Amino acid sequence: MEFKYKKSNRQKRIALIAHDNMKRELTNWVEENKKSLSKHFLCGTGTTATLISEKVNLPVEAFKSGPIGGDQQIGSRISEGLIDFMIFFWDPLEAQPHDPDVKALLRIGVLYNIPIANNRSSADFLLTSPLMNSEYERRVIDYEALMRKRTEEMSMKE
Ligand code: PGA
Repeated sequence: MEFKYKKSNRQKRIALIAHDNMKRELTNWVEENKKSLSKHFLCGTGTTATLISEKVNLPVEAFKSGPIGGDQQIGSRISEGLIDFMIFFWDPLEAQPHDPDVKALLRIGVLYNIPIANNRSSADFLLTSPLMNSEYERRVIDYEALMRKRTEEMSMKE
């Protein structure tokens, strides 16, 4: 497998997502960490983003609501290198109508090797890392090289 390096700037592009039972927890966490988070670009699924920007008074770009495509929009931006950090408080006690989208988003986040916090303590650890305010080169699979190799293999089978 070939790898390449993708740079995150000092200003991180952070996606914020919380399932309904976790929205208060995430909003409170953002409020407590407003000063650090205000240095970064924030976006999130529709309801989470709107709630946070209203309650905490920080700009948060809103995508569609999670269950109607917002998770997929965020996943697509991760794959395009437009989001480099994710805080996703998913609900461990309740199934979601869009569970396949949730799983897909978590998979894409891991695949593109972005930092992901799924609960408050992980979010605390990540936000206080010195890497949060420095440039960082994360290692990702070189998908172009992989695709070229696959295309060659497929055309040899013909
Ligand atoms: P929401 O979506 O912020 O629009 O509620 C979150 C989710 O359930 O994925």
